[in-house]
This record gives sequence, structure tokens and C-alpha cells, in this order.
Amino acid sequence: MSENITPIPGKRHYLFCADEKGMKLLQPLIDGIKDGNISYEIQIVKDNFSHTLISEWLSMQKMGSFLYAAAEWNSLKHLKLMAEDAGFSEEEAHYIAYGKQQIQVFCCRCHGISVLEKSQIERNCDHCGLLLEVSHHYSKLRDAFLGYVAKL
Ligand SMILES: [Zn+2]
Repeated sequence: MSENITPIPGKRHYLFCADEKGMKLLQPLIDGIKDGNISYEIQIVKDNFSHTLISEWLSMQKMGSFLYAAAEWNSLKHLKLMAEDAGFSEEEAHYIAYGKQQIQVFCCRCHGISVLEKSQIERNCDHCGLLLEVSHHYSKLRDAFLGYVAKL
């Protein structure tokens, strides 16, 4: 990912939340901030990270903090939800994902959920074996796209 990340002017406090690989993506930014006498905190996200710990850490941050989060797609999705719950708006956070994005598809026949890579358009349901075509209909409740019977 060749995202150009630069510090946001006027922010007083920076938060970096990332898993091990994400930390490497944030490193140039952290190095830049270290030179500029700006306060910052780093929170490393482990594989089985504690949601409570990170939620609490995000919730206790003062106004004017800016969050940089970098993680594998799925972890990042959770981090984003936690940051939003803690009151971070789109303008107060920047998310950097790496790896292959996975989505969930909801089977129109058995209502089971299967996981696939975003680039895939067809997949057999994990539960009933039906060949599904991934639609654009997204259910926020299920966090899944509706899968229709694929036309053969
Ligand atoms: Zn099914």
C-alpha cells in the first residue's frame, strides 16, 4: 500500500494503534513525529487483542487527539468500530489496512455465512454447498453481502 501519510497540522496528540506489521507501515510517520516534539502514544495490537483494553484506551483520549490505526483488514474493521464507539470521527482518525480484504456472504438458501476474498464473485456456500454469486446488497446487521444462486 503506497499511502502517503503525513501528520495533520494543529493536532496536539497522536495515537498510533497497530499490529506488528501495521507498526512498520506507521514507522516513518512515528519517526517524523519524534523529531517534531509532538506528544504521542503507541498501542500495539496483538493477535488475540483485548477489546476492552483498547476501547478503554481510546475512550480516555482527550479531544484533539488524532488516531492512526494500521492493521490487517479484519482487525482493522474491529479497531475502526471501537474508535467510532469511543467518539473518533472520520476527521480524527486515519485507517490503513493491509492484506487481502475479506468479506462475508450470506446464503439465500440456508442463511449460512461464508467468508471470501473481496475479489471473488462466486463461491460455494460453506454450509449447504450452493454456488452463490455475491450481490451488492449489504446487510449491516449480518455484516455480510447477500449471495444469490449463481446463474450457470
Ligand atoms: Zn447455504
